[in-house]
Amino acid sequence: MKRVSILGATGSIGQNTVSLIAADPDAYDVVALTGGRNIDQLAADAIRLRADVAVTCYDDLLDDLRARLEGSGVEAAAGDAAMAEAGARPADWVMSAIVGAAGLVPGLAAIRQGAVLALANKETLVCAGPLVMREVAQHGATLLPVDSEHSAVFQALVGEDMAAVERVIITASGGAFRDWPLERLVTATVEEASAHPNWDMGQRITIDSASMFNKGLELIETKEFFGLDPDRIEVLVHPESLIHALVGFTDGALMAHLGPPDMRHAIGYALNHPQRAPLPVERLDLGRIGQLNFRPPDSERYPALRLARGVMEAGGLTGAIFNAAKEVALDAFIAGRIGFLDMAHAVEDTLTAMSSDASLQMDTFDLDMVLDTDQRSRVRTDEIISSMDR
Ligand code: NAD
Ligand code: MG
Repeated sequence: MKRVSILGATGSIGQNTVSLIAADPDAYDVVALTGGRNIDQLAADAIRLRADVAVTCYDDLLDDLRARLEGSGVEAAAGDAAMAEAGARPADWVMSAIVGAAGLVPGLAAIRQGAVLALANKETLVCAGPLVMREVAQHGATLLPVDSEHSAVFQALVGEDMAAVERVIITASGGAFRDWPLERLVTATVEEASAHPNWDMGQRITIDSASMFNKGLELIETKEFFGLDPDRIEVLVHPESLIHALVGFTDGALMAHLGPPDMRHAIGYALNHPQRAPLPVERLDLGRIGQLNFRPPDSERYPALRLARGVMEAGGLTGAIFNAAKEVALDAFIAGRIGFLDMAHAVEDTLTAMSSDASLQMDTFDLDMVLDTDQRSRVRTDEIISSMDR
C-alpha cells in the first residue's frame, strides 16, 4: 500500500486527487489531509479515506473539526505548525495542492522526509526554486509536476537527453478575456475574470489565467523545474487547451502532449509514476475536433508575461517578490480595491521598489530569507495599492 497525504485536499486539485484515491481504496494508506475553512469536506473525506490526521490551517476551527471527527479515530489538528507537521508525517507520496506561498513550508517538509512530492503548488518553485531543487537532491526526494503544462513537458522528456532539448513551449488558453477589446479590460469585474473558457479550477488560478499571471508563474516554474535558460521557454496561445506543452529538440522534432482539459490526467500520472494506469478521463476524438488554433501571446494584453521574463532573468528571490506581490494584488482585485489592470501595475511597482537590494538576486538563499522576502513584499505591495488613486 502506498502511504499518501494530500495538502490542500479540499480544493479543486485536492478533490480530484481524493476522487482518484477513493476509487482504489485498497491501494492507498491515507496519512494526512489538510484544508482551510471547509472543515465539513475535510472531515468527511478524512473519515471516508480513513486518514490518520485531518488538519485545518485555521487555529480557531480546531474544536469544530474535532467535533466532526469524534469517534472516527481520525486525529484533528490546526494551525501553521500542524500544517508543516502534516507534510513531515512519513508518507511515500504527498500531493502539494495548497494555493499560494502557503504551500511552500508543508511541501518542503515532505521533501525533507524524502517523499515523492506531486507538485501542483507552482508557487513553491516560483518563490524558492533553487532552494527546493537543492533540498530535493540532498534528501533523495522526488519532485513530479502536476501543473498540466509541466506534466506534459515531463512526459515528452521521458527517455530524452536534456542536452538535445532546444526549447520548451507551454500553451495558454488566453483566459476569460482573450478576445475582449483591450479598452474593456479596465472595467473587467471579478465575476467576469472568474470564468475560464476550458478548465474548471479554483477561483484564484482562474483569475490568474485571465491576467496570464498564471502563465507568468508557469514560465518561472518551467525554468526552475527543468533547469532551462529563460530564452528557451516560450508561451503559445492555444484556445482549445488540448495541447498542453511541446518540446523542441535539436534535430527539429517537436513532441506535443495532448489530452482533455482534465487535471485528473496530470494528477493520475504523478500518482502512478513511473507506471501508467487507466484514468477516468475523456478520450480525444481528433476527427471530431477537426482543428486546433494557435497564436503568439499579445504582450500589450498580458503584461504579466513581460514581468515574469524579468523575474526569470534576475533569478534569486525575485520570484518570491513577484509571487507575493501578485497574491496581494489579486486579493485587492477580489476585494474591489483595485481594477483588473492595476494588478500588473502593483506587481511591477513592487518589483521596481525592491530591486535596489542586489542580494535578492543570489540563488543561495535559505527558507528564512524566502519567508522574510515574502512578508516584506506583501507589505510593500499593500502600500503601493493604498496609494493608487481609484
Ligand atoms: P483551491 O483554491 O481550489 O484550493 C486550495 C486549497 O488550499 C484548499 O484546500 C484550501 O483550503 C487550501 N488553502 C488555502 N489557503 C491556505 C493557507 N493559507 N494555508 C493552508 N492551506 C490553504 O486551489 P486549486 O485551484 O486547487 O489550486 C491549488 C494549487 O494548484 C495552486 O497552486 C494552483 O496554482 C495549482 N494548480 C491548480 C490547477 C487547477 O486545475 N485547479 C491546475 C494547475 C495548477
Ligand atoms: Mg497550468
